[in-house]
Parts: sequence; structure tokens; C-alpha cells
Amino acid sequence: MPPVLKNVILLTVVVLALGGAAWYTYSKHGEDVIPDDPTVTTHWMCETCGWNTSLTERKLEEWRHTPGKLRRDPTQVLSKQQVFLCPTCNTHTVVGALQCKTHKTWYCAISSKGQKLDCPQCAKEQRK
Ligand SMILES: [Zn+2]
Ligand SMILES: [Zn+2]
Repeated sequence: MPPVLKNVILLTVVVLALGGAAWYTYSKHGEDVIPDDPTVTTHWMCETCGWNTSLTERKLEEWRHTPGKLRRDPTQVLSKQQVFLCPTCNTHTVVGALQCKTHKTWYCAISSKGQKLDCPQCAKEQRK
């Protein structure tokens, strides 16, 4: 075998090996690309029983991919709204929550039926 050809083959093998490693690293990294940063969370609350939790981006992604966890019912809710199954009362009424600036309490931002909600305490005070 001429030395030049040998070098070309060797180079090809090295390039393929590197490419494979890079692909492997990339695809492995792809799974970890969602940050599991406890300081960047979204808050979720059950409309029915009041159970609430903070989720990191990664945990939220896990919820989305857990079979049966996410309710997909575009006829009932805004198609973009995510409604999850509550682990406590076992109903699909866990919705995104917001914290009231006045009362510092968490409340459901949009009901599981797609209705916009305000802090219940603020609403009560306004009715007075
Ligand atoms: Zn619940
Ligand atoms: Zn309030």
C-alpha cells in the first residue's frame, strides 16, 4: 500500500471517529439542553384542591412527556394552555399560577377551562 493512500485511509478513520464522537456528544447534550435550574421555575397550581408546586424547565418537560399527565383538549381550553393532572386529587386541573404582588399568594392565572383569573383575595377586596 502506498504511504499516501495509507494516510488518507487513516485520516478518514480519524475523521469518522471524531465525527461520531461529536455526534454522540451532541445528541447526549441534546437531552440535557433543558436547564434544571432551581432559580428559574414556573409555578403550577391545582384549581380543584389548591395543591401547588414549582417546576424547573426540565421538570416541566418531564411532565409534558409523562403519558396522561398533560391534558390535550383543544375544544375546551386555549390550544396553548397546558393543563396537568393533579397528583393529589387526580383531576386535570393543574394550571399555571401567578403570585399576587399584594398578597404574595399563588393563584391560578387561567382556569382549566381557559378563563382568565385574578387573585381571589384581591377580587374579594374589590367587591367590598
Ligand atoms: Zn388537585
Ligand atoms: Zn391579591
